[in-house]
Amino acid sequence: MAVDSTLPSPLGPPAHERDAKALQFIEDMTKNVDSVQERVLSEILAQNAETEYLKRFNLNGATDRETFKSKIPVVTYEDLQPEIQRIANGDKSPILSSHPISEFLTSSGTSAGERKLMPTIAQEMDRRQLLYSLLMPVMNLYVPGLDKGKGLYFLFVKAETKTPGGLLARPVLTAYYNSQQFKTRPFDPFNVYTSPNEAILCVDSFQSMYAQMLCGLLMREEVLRVGAVFASGLLRAIHFLQVNWKELAHDISTGTLNPKITDGSIRERMSQILKPNPELAEFIVNECSAENWERIIVRIWPNTKYLDVIVTGAMAQYIPTLEYYSGGLPMPCTMYASSECYFGLNLRPMSKPSEVSYTIMPNMAYFEFLPHDQSNPSALSRDSPPRLVDLADVEVGKEYELIVSTYAGLCRYRVGDILRVTGFHNAAPQFRFVRRKNVLLSIESDKTDEAELQKAIENASVLLTEFNTSVVEYTSYADTKQIPGHYVIYWELFIKDPANAPTDDVLNQCCLQMEESLNSVYRQSRVADNSIGPLEIRVVKNGTFEELMDYAISRGASINQYKVPRCVSFTPIMELLDSRVVSKHFSPALPHWTPERRR
Ligand code: AMP
Repeated sequence: MAVDSTLPSPLGPPAHERDAKALQFIEDMTKNVDSVQERVLSEILAQNAETEYLKRFNLNGATDRETFKSKIPVVTYEDLQPEIQRIANGDKSPILSSHPISEFLTSSGTSAGERKLMPTIAQEMDRRQLLYSLLMPVMNLYVPGLDKGKGLYFLFVKAETKTPGGLLARPVLTAYYNSQQFKTRPFDPFNVYTSPNEAILCVDSFQSMYAQMLCGLLMREEVLRVGAVFASGLLRAIHFLQVNWKELAHDISTGTLNPKITDGSIRERMSQILKPNPELAEFIVNECSAENWERIIVRIWPNTKYLDVIVTGAMAQYIPTLEYYSGGLPMPCTMYASSECYFGLNLRPMSKPSEVSYTIMPNMAYFEFLPHDQSNPSALSRDSPPRLVDLADVEVGKEYELIVSTYAGLCRYRVGDILRVTGFHNAAPQFRFVRRKNVLLSIESDKTDEAELQKAIENASVLLTEFNTSVVEYTSYADTKQIPGHYVIYWELFIKDPANAPTDDVLNQCCLQMEESLNSVYRQSRVADNSIGPLEIRVVKNGTFEELMDYAISRGASINQYKVPRCVSFTPIMELLDSRVVSKHFSPALPHWTPERRR
């Protein structure tokens, strides 16, 4: 069935009667952004009026914007750490929230090397659930017939930990998949997953993935969409299939489950699903034993209409690989969310990844925007508090840092994401995710952020196309052990034809091409100041980044939320990477730099 990417705004009409309410809700929220925001702020302030935190700033019961903005400071995680620590240690008094903190959500963002702990309250789960409930009604506007089959989603939970005071600490998605809202969700023909709950809820990632993949293969004809939370999760699943297809095919052929799957509830559930099917097993063996895995997703799951994965932000680099495996299926980035708060959704999910914008739903929290000063991105002083802009007042084309005040008690909290306003749906601004702040490579005054690094890699990898080679994964390291320091970029390459691999000289040129793409402060330091040495590329063995992820998971990262760190400095990780290096390359010349601006 055709996929329509051209529906105009406003939304609708609903594809199904059951979607009408959700679409109407989106219309109401987006038409009345400012009044909803005003109500949300006053609800948050009224709810938390008696907390230690708000009392400290003498709000005296005020719930209006003016008082709030004049009295409450903009804060970072580090500012709140003493309060968060007390809650974690078991202080149950109303510190940040009048409602009891139900658990901590562990963010993939870290503070002093540790995951940030985000307090949450029970009612937040309903708010998250509400946002989820809007996704399919929007998708149904663009893709018909999603009730005629299933979604193959690779979803994972992580083992939970407890704080010293006994509160649960776990990733937000682990909390969600373990919630009654998810586990006992009523049947919805538009949201039928191939993965049984028993597989999703198994904390052993191998067993969970194995069972989810097995179910996906068994139901291959029914699968209409394939997904994971982030693009990296889906690629990990494909890699899993590459490694395990023989065992999976054996199970399908014989109708018996691999003895490596020891989880009792998975075994019981699979015994109801798994029946011998030698024909299907033979098909899988034929497809998976082929050298060429191009379009493997649509070869195995021929009715797939789209890949449900996030490919914005740090995930943009996976787009070419996913296009290769899927034959160019659309990749709707359906929502934008974090441990602090779920923010909003993509109302035009069939747009190109580079054009994805998210509409923040004004009922989720109170949102403010700190104009992002490109020349001085960290400027924020207590003495002259910046003017934060309200959600309804942001301007198209401008970049802002997102600041959130939540029902759970975060007040004017800097999320750390930089967003650019691209337009409006009704009165609601739509935002392109630009980058997460402060992911920097720096040797001295130079600062390279994630987007710049990504661009440099894209530009350099153009030199690899004639060798049918692409960069599948990368990370970086500011090597300051020698003077001058230099950037080290680790590359894992996908070389289609080893007989035609890129030469040493080409890889050296890739180093230079990266330098040419970096910002002028970097090039000035290289050329005029000689304070940065030639950029180095270290090519690592295939599978190294998989090992890096395994390492992170073994140290407590969640598969759902795992993102390859774009800059590394932690010694064991450096040692792992360095032990896998197959060749080293250096920039053979200085990049261009003149005092004049390039544009
Ligand atoms: P976490 O706290 O681990 O859940 O990570 C949340 C962060 O992931 C956000 O603040 C963003 O930086 C990033 N993120 C979440 N959703 C998206 C998205 N749709 N596109 C790009 N980045 C995202």
